[in-house]
Formats: sequence, structure tokens, C-alpha cells
Amino acid sequence: MITDRYRADTLTTMDDSDMATDEREGPDHPSLLRPSMFAVGWWVSVAGGLLLVGYAVAQTIPALPEADAAFWVIAGLLLLFEFSPVIIGSGYDSQGVATSDAFTFAVLYLYGPWPAIALISCATLVSELVKRKPPWKVPYNIGQFALSLGSAALVMGLWFRATDQPTPTLVEPLAALQPVDLTWMVAGWLTFFFVNNTLFSLLADPGRTFADDFFDDFAYYFFTTIAVLAVAPIVVFVSAEPAFMPLLLLPLYAVRKTASISREKEHQALHDSLTGLPNRKMILAELASRLDEARRLDTNVAFCLLDLDRFKEVNDTLGHQVGDRLLAVVAQRIEGALRPNDIVARLGGDEFAILLDPVRNSDAAVEVAHRVRQALTRPFHVEGMLFELEASVGVAVYPVHGQDVDPIVRRADVAMYLAKEERTGVEIYVADRDRNSASRLALLGGLRHALQNGELRVHYQPKVSLSSGNVVGVEALVRWHHPQRGLVMPDEFIPMAEHSGLMAPLTEHVIDESLAQVARWRTAGLEVPVAVNVSMRDLNGRDLLGVVASALERHDLPASLLVLELTERVLTRNSAEVTSTLNALRRLGVAASLDDFGTGYSSMVLLKKLPIAEIKIDRSFVSRLTADPGDVTIVRSIVDLAHGLGMTAVAEGVESEQVWELLQGLGCDAAQGWYISRPLDSDKATAWLRRLPSQQPALRVLRGGAEGADSTG
Ligand code: C2E
Ligand code: MG
Ligand code: MG
Repeated sequence: MITDRYRADTLTTMDDSDMATDEREGPDHPSLLRPSMFAVGWWVSVAGGLLLVGYAVAQTIPALPEADAAFWVIAGLLLLFEFSPVIIGSGYDSQGVATSDAFTFAVLYLYGPWPAIALISCATLVSELVKRKPPWKVPYNIGQFALSLGSAALVMGLWFRATDQPTPTLVEPLAALQPVDLTWMVAGWLTFFFVNNTLFSLLADPGRTFADDFFDDFAYYFFTTIAVLAVAPIVVFVSAEPAFMPLLLLPLYAVRKTASISREKEHQALHDSLTGLPNRKMILAELASRLDEARRLDTNVAFCLLDLDRFKEVNDTLGHQVGDRLLAVVAQRIEGALRPNDIVARLGGDEFAILLDPVRNSDAAVEVAHRVRQALTRPFHVEGMLFELEASVGVAVYPVHGQDVDPIVRRADVAMYLAKEERTGVEIYVADRDRNSASRLALLGGLRHALQNGELRVHYQPKVSLSSGNVVGVEALVRWHHPQRGLVMPDEFIPMAEHSGLMAPLTEHVIDESLAQVARWRTAGLEVPVAVNVSMRDLNGRDLLGVVASALERHDLPASLLVLELTERVLTRNSAEVTSTLNALRRLGVAASLDDFGTGYSSMVLLKKLPIAEIKIDRSFVSRLTADPGDVTIVRSIVDLAHGLGMTAVAEGVESEQVWELLQGLGCDAAQGWYISRPLDSDKATAWLRRLPSQQPALRVLRGGAEGADSTG
């Protein structure tokens, strides 16, 4: 838990260095002057505890000169361990139990309650001051510890009185332990645990009840406390020969070391190593717990997703090292713009998430988002260079935009993409503008399932040479056979997949299924290259090359039988990552085709630079060819451009014979469209391909043959 839990400080003290986020002090604690559970817990601990401490110190100091050597050794070890407590990590919080407790209890058994209470109070005071705990916490922690220890001492005292033994003191320490002593010791441990747990549960965080805190991780605290206290009698035995005492250091040190390593691992699992911020896992867990809290308290929770707009360029042009440095500074800048109880996490890449402490209303959340964005617009100085960044932030607020973690995160994501697309910087989720609203979200939820269940199938649409009528390839077009909704077209789910992390598995699936089909055709004597559509996301990811190479190998196919179609958007960004992926694919022998050409804003420089073999003229120009002379000019220019750059030109969306003939006249190389064939499932596509050679080159006949087989699109 990274909210500042009062409790975290009572049982444990933490190393300040490695838990920066836990050391943030929370908002003001509830008033100590108005009656509340918090105030009662505080006053009882402080007043009762400090009274006890005062008395203990007064009793102990005069007797100190008579203390034996064992006392000083134990006291020394107690202090040593007080300043290096064992923290045994658990879940998301950093509570634990201090090894110094083993020595405190040893002092209690050997020298009675007063030296024990005096010692642990002094040690706690010093360590709290060193760690700069807020002033209200210091007396509370000392007091509640003294009371807990005092109650264990009471159990011991009652036993000694009942059995008519003198209670040990500094002057007259305990002579020896008997097996029967284990009874009151165990009773004392239990008392200590329950008093301690009760006192800090009284100071439960706002929004948590006494029971929440009392039973939170109950078993864990119970066993760690008992385990540490069980060492106390061993200290008592060893104290008979103080020279042996330092030997206890070794095993205790080993325990401490192991515990701190495991805690470090836990920390790593929940934090981003580059920025030190919490990671996705941690912030989602925190979001879940804040939603619970908000449900109980009827407050709101605001969640923001922030994405840097041009960060990729920095990484691509200056390398990851500079990019990483910059991200670390960005992280600080974001944190600096927030209040201490807000949480920032790095989700990966240049994406951050912010969880805001309860805000007044949605407007307040948007205001904070603007403030963060504003903070990032100031130039950054990193490694002697000046950077200007922009960020897009999407905001979603519980309860208006969603009730649970998933919808809240997704809606913040939707808002963020909107902010990016519209270049507005900050957007709050608005259902009307959500192309992912309810039914779409349900669809997205089903997509993962669909991938595993084989509901996604590939259809094939032939591309035919305009001069010879030969098939030059087929395009793989994915369809979703939805169990309830029937056939769902890619336009409906591909954009969602692109925003959801499902793009990579989807592309992998389509590549695999298409190549499996090509291999079957090949065995049957049909050598047909397949063109698979890949999205921008695929090209930015690093594994496309690996996926392609291994699929080709798996199906034992030459790379020349695979083409990748990319949208023109790749040409609007000069991305080193895209360039290197495409170059590597080309070296492998896989050609790239530029899809929907004419609809985007291509950079001619990039068109020349990137290894692209084919341009597909967007169907919006092609379909109007017969009606609009302007489009004839455009198509002719694109064909010339392609040929000038050594590429082939393919027209998509050829729906009529006139268009087919016009394209022939313009020198276009190949055509694809309903006039030739609609996309066909694998069986129909196989039949279509088989029939073709005998019917060449009369495409009119082909068209007649294909019509009956129309399946989709
Ligand atoms: P695209 O790559 O431009 O694919 C061509 C689209 O035009 C297909 O739509 C096809 O059915 C349609 N089409 C073909 N001939 C004609 C015609 O004569 N007239 C008209 N009006 N339309 C025609 P579809 O299958 O709905 O696919 C839409 C888009 O979805 C594709 O556009 C492509 O960008 C994307 N897509 C399809 N499958 C995949 C895939 O596996 N991965 C990715 N990343 N995108 C895919
Ligand atoms: Mg395509
Ligand atoms: Mg296209």
C-alpha cells in the first residue's frame, strides 16, 4: 500500500532511501481535539505511554551504575537493531517487525519492565528523530510501544506475584529460566501483539475502519511478531556468558539481509527501474484499493493517462540513453506538479498514469491534468541539450465514468487518444465521443477470447495483373465470426485492437493462418504470395521481424511469398524503429506494400528512403475514376510516381469493367476489387484460384464465376 498508513510506522521503521514513495507524508491527520477514534487512539497512547515512560526512566537511571555487563551488551545490540530493522515484505505494503524487539523482551525478562521500557523509548525517540517522522507521530509511536510492552510486563508481573518470586530488576536480575516460564512468556507475546495491533488500528486511515486495520494482514503480523519475540528467551540463555552474545549477530544479520533482499525484489516487482516510480501493476492495485475506499466513503477517484507526444523522435534520433535520461526527468517533473498523495506510475515507454487524491469534482481533475501538462511544456535540459515535449492526458473519474478498474483505465485511455487526435492536450472521458462505448468495450473484451477460440478467420482477396490477368497475389483480410453478432468486419475491431495490446497477437495469428494457407496452396501446385496488413503498432514493436521469420520457417516457405501492407501513416513519421524493421524485413526477403496511398500525408523523402516495393492506390480515387477527371490525373500521377521510384502500382476497389479498362490505359500494374472477386474464405478462394488459369484472360468471365462465391466485404 503506498498510501501513507499510520500503521506502517508503528511496528516498523523503514530505510528511507529505498522507499521514497512510502515516505511521503499524507494530508493532515484528523484533528486531535475533536472526539474521534483517531483522537482517542492518539491520546491514550501518548498520555498513558509517556506517563509509563517517565516512570520507567526515573526508575532506571539511578540503578544504571549497578547494571551487569550482559545488560550493556544487550542494550548495545538493541540499539544496533533498532537502527537496522528487519523488514519482511508482504503484499504491497512495507510493514514488518523489528529485530530489536527480541532484545527488548530479553531486557524485560532479565531486568524487569522499567529498564526495558526506558531503553526502547530512548531508542525509538532517537530513530524517529533521525528519520524525521512528523512531530505528531513521534510521541504516539513511543507511547504505544511503551503501552504494548507494559502490558506484556504486566502479565509477567502477575505471574511472579502469583508464584511468590521477586520481579527481576537491574540490581537483581533474573536467576534462571525454567520450562514453566514459557507459559507467561507466550501469554506476554500475545498480549503485546493484541495491544499493539489495537492501538494502531485506532489510528486507521480515513476511509478504513478499526476492523480493516486490525485484520489486515493479521496472520502475517501475528507470526512475524511471535517469531521475533521467540528469540528473546534465547538471548536470555546466551546472556549467561555475555562474551557469546555477539554470536547472535550473525544469524540475526543473515535474517535481516535475506529479508531486505526479498523486500528489494518486491520493490523491483512493483516499480519501474528507470524512473523509480511505481509500475503498472502497483498503480492498478492502488487504483483498486482507492475505488474500494471511494465506494465506502462516497468520494471520487480520478485516474489520468499521460502519453508524451513526440518522445519517439528523441529515442529514434538520439538513442535510448538520452531518451531514458529524459524520461527520468519527465517523471520528476510530473511528480513535482502533483500533491504528495497523488501517485504517478510509469506504465512503459512514454506512458504514465496518475492517480489523484480525492478531488472535488471532474473539473478539478481536469485542472490538475492541465497543470501537469503545463509543467511538461517548459523545456528540458538533458545531457547538454534542450528538449521541448508535449503530452496528451486523458482523464476518467469514478463514479461518473466507470465503477471498476478496467472501465476506468480504458476510458482514461479513450480520452487520452482523443486528446492526442484532436491535439487538445487534455480530455476527460465523454461517452458520446467514445468510439469505444459500451458495446465496443464488450466487443474488445471478447477479442482476446476470439483469438484463442479460433473465431478470427482470414479471407483472401485476389490481386490480378492488369496486363496479363494472372493472379499476382492475394490479400489476407481478417474477419471475426462472433458467436452472437455474426460476422464482424475488421474496421470495427482493428482500431480497438490497436489501442489495446491485442494487435501483436492478432497480427501474429493472421500471419500464421495466411502462411499456413499459402503452404497448402503450394502443396496443391498453386504458388500465390499473400499480403498481410500490419498496423503502425506492429512496426513500432520489436518482434514483428521475429514473428515473420519464425512463421516462414514453420511453414517452410520462401520469404517472397509474404508481403506486408502498411498504411501510409508510416510515412508521416520519421521513425528509426520503423525504418530498421522494414530494412530487416527486406533483407529477409519480405516486400512491403504501401496501403491506402493518397489518403495520408506522405513524405516524399521517406517514400524514397524506405524499402517499399508496391503502392496501393486508395479506393476512394479508384472508385471515382469514371466520374471525376481529377481522379484520373491523381491516379496517373501516382502510377508515374511509383514507376519512377521503381515500385509497382496496384489499384484497390476496382468495382467495374470501365475502371478496369481505364486503369489498363493508365499503365497501372495490378488491380484488386469486387469486379475481380470479393474477399473469399479459404475454400472458396482455393476454388477461385483453381478455376482461374483455364479462364484467362477474360476477366469478365472470371467475374461471373466469382459472383456466386461472394462471401464478404
Ligand atoms: P485494406 O487493407 O485497404 O483492405 C481493403 C479493403 O477494401 C477490405 O475491407 C476489402 O474488403 C475492401 N474492398 C476490396 N475490394 C473492394 C471494392 O471493390 N470496393 C469496395 N468498396 N471495397 C473493397 P475490409 O476487409 O473490411 O478491411 C478493412 C481494413 O481493415 C483493411 O483495409 C485493412 O486496413 C484492415 N485489415 C483487414 N485485415 C487486417 C489484418 O489482418 N490486420 C490489420 N492490421 N488490418 C487489417
Ligand atoms: Mg490492405
Ligand atoms: Mg487499402
